[in-house]
Amino acid sequence: MFDTLALASLPPEDEALRPAIRELVARAVADMPVDRRARSWQGFDAAFSRRLGQAGFLGLNLPKRYGGQERGPFARFVVVEELLSAGAPVAGHWIADRQSAPLICNYGTEAQRAFYIPRICKGEALFCIGMSEPGSGSDLASVRTRAEKTATGWLLNGQKIWTTNSLHSDYMIALLRTSGKPEDRHAGLSQLIVDLRLPGVTIRPIVDLTGDAHFAEVFFENVELADDALIGREGEGWKQVTAELAFERSGPERIYSSVVLLDAWVRHLRETGRADDATLAMVGGFTARLATLRAMSIACTARLALGESPVVEASLVKDLGTHFEQELPVAIGDDLAGHPDEPASTELYRTLLYVTQVAPSFSLRGGTREILRGIIARGLGLR
Ligand SMILES: Cc1cc2nc3c(=O)[nH]c(=O)nc-3n(C[C@H](O)[C@H](O)[C@H](O)COP(=O)(O)OP(=O)(O)OC[C@H]3O[C@@H](n4cnc5c(N)ncnc54)[C@H](O)[C@@H]3O)c2cc1C
Repeated sequence: MFDTLALASLPPEDEALRPAIRELVARAVADMPVDRRARSWQGFDAAFSRRLGQAGFLGLNLPKRYGGQERGPFARFVVVEELLSAGAPVAGHWIADRQSAPLICNYGTEAQRAFYIPRICKGEALFCIGMSEPGSGSDLASVRTRAEKTATGWLLNGQKIWTTNSLHSDYMIALLRTSGKPEDRHAGLSQLIVDLRLPGVTIRPIVDLTGDAHFAEVFFENVELADDALIGREGEGWKQVTAELAFERSGPERIYSSVVLLDAWVRHLRETGRADDATLAMVGGFTARLATLRAMSIACTARLALGESPVVEASLVKDLGTHFEQELPVAIGDDLAGHPDEPASTELYRTLLYVTQVAPSFSLRGGTREILRGIIARGLGLR
């Protein structure tokens, strides 16, 4: 397994994207307080997402005939890294660009590709993921929400939960039971595109610890979907969802969630002039870990570039990456508490407070730590 995490570097033609995206992002975040930037992929700004689309930074891996850029995964790595390290508000396009468009491209009909993908590439069609339900999180195969076949399409009833960005989205790609019973597990599941403006859809926000409502409960009551809502073949949903989760877990985003806080703390150290050995060792330790995680993430991207699906390697990066992201606010909080006489800005404290409150979710979203470790154990032949 570790052979596949061999060192890899970013190709110069993809690295060349960096100055343009960096400039665009710098302009977008110039007037944003640091604690707002720390929200990053929970930060919603539809106009910014459209601007990225216009500049050609969305749909980087998608075919040109649908409005994409037809570049490899390294191009997306560079763009995502610049967006997240500056704390740009990326929630508007994130899920559509990362997951929904590749899924539709791989499994959708020609009509679905032609309808949805160009709008995703322009940042104009916003998507959310409807997988989790009350009682079906890690055990996703037990979903109960049902789409019954009718003469004209599908009749949808049930509930989804924790649906990130559903309040702002146009569409949900939902994992639904289309035949059989929940006990049938992987058989009888399908993915359908649900237009969230249809009658019978109710979206109720869930407020998190920080006071934000970035996810919601979504209820379906006799929602009528047309025949062409189905992605791929009926009953093939499990295979598709597994492939989709590989997109979700293998991106570089699993190491950058606390990086705006790290940056703000290092700026604070520079401003106060604190450079004793213990502080320098702490900064060096964080930097070394971030550099190692980044190299591992690039190695995963190299597997994607070869057309492989690095499920085990991506789980390893997500587990170690979220560990790092969760340790940062604790260590920085302890450090500031250990220097009570040092002047620190309220912006730094607000950022610390936000990241501390949101950090527990880092190892839940996209698959919990225990589930990822199960995947890693299987990859090592231990299960
Ligand atoms: C910020 C955030 C955003 C999210 N966004 C979305 C979204 O957009 N769309 C969506 O569909 N879902 C979303 N989720 C839901 C997320 O995917 C689920 O919360 C996650 O899969 C865990 O499911 P659960 O909450 O039902 O917990 P459970 O599955 O009930 O797990 C509870 C605990 O038991 C452990 N556990 C469960 N099974 C096992 C096992 N077999 N072996 C060992 N331990 C086990 C888990 O690791 C966990 O610690 C989001 C969650 C968060 C926190």
